[in-house]
Amino acid sequence: MKIGFIGLGRMGSAMATNLLKAGHDVTVFNRSPKKQRPFLELGAHSANSVADACHGELVVTMLADDTAVADVAFSDEGIVNVLPKGAIHLSMSTISVALSKQLAAAHAQAAQQFVAAPVFGRPDAAAAAKLYIVAAGNPDAVNMCKPLLDVLGQRTFPIGTEPSSANLVKLSGNFLMAAVIEALGEAIALVGKAGIDPQVYVDLLTSSIFNVPVYKTYGGLIAEGRFEPALFAAPLGFKDIKLALAAAESLQVPMPLGGLLHDRFLRLLAGGGERFDWAAIGGLAARDAGERKRA
Ligand code: NAP
Repeated sequence: MKIGFIGLGRMGSAMATNLLKAGHDVTVFNRSPKKQRPFLELGAHSANSVADACHGELVVTMLADDTAVADVAFSDEGIVNVLPKGAIHLSMSTISVALSKQLAAAHAQAAQQFVAAPVFGRPDAAAAAKLYIVAAGNPDAVNMCKPLLDVLGQRTFPIGTEPSSANLVKLSGNFLMAAVIEALGEAIALVGKAGIDPQVYVDLLTSSIFNVPVYKTYGGLIAEGRFEPALFAAPLGFKDIKLALAAAESLQVPMPLGGLLHDRFLRLLAGGGERFDWAAIGGLAARDAGERKRA
């Protein structure tokens, strides 16, 4: 398939690589152009602008946040103005429900298709094509995306015809993950201060009643106090909690734990934690307990 790929960050670079390896005709664009260079060796075309990446049947966006996606979609030479009629914008970033609705309306007005397909899984999962993808939009358009989604992930979960429902599910999932990270951080601080080895403790949990990927990944990082390099940067995690809370407010769903997580991220960032993985909120409890070595 002839596709454009916009956003070659931690996730996008791994995903674009897999699309190229699968034999797709990919034109890449990134705001900082030097990130495009390695893809030329893999056979990608290099775009000089967003518009240059919008000549195919489909354009993927994998960008940081709402500001980035809105810039790329709604600028004068942006996706909505240049994508051919009938072509698909496949939005895989974690963005707000509100922006997803705005994009769906704008693309419909321009006689284009909009599919939201945010992902679960970190850059290592993206590189291994092991993402879990939540997809929503017009069923024909979602089906047209299926060959790409199959290259990028281990399973795609269709969630409905309204694209923003996929974004809401993704935000709810990240809220849950952040809650697990905070809870793990507190539990590990408790046993750690009493002299129990945090790694032995996490191994016990994840070999028994918490034998789940999210506990293994984040329990391991918190026990080791290893928050760099950031595979999912703390400011992006904070963004997702804010977007979950915005969705909760508009649906009038109180989420008291969401408010707590909002403040944990604020505490991390106020202490200079921008460069850390979002797992670092799980290091705060140990610090609060006077154990300085874990973040
Ligand atoms: P990242 O490494 O920070 O990459 C962000 C990308 O967005 C870069 O290509 C960056 O371009 C571009 N960008 C940022 N602001 C822009 C703007 N105003 N205009 C144009 N381009 C802009 O982020 P990531 O970790 O790949 O995450 C990408 C998306 O996936 C986010 O929505 C994130 O929440 C979601 N996600 C991440 C993970 C994870 O574990 N990392 C997992 C699941 C979902 P430059 O290179 O020029 O800065």
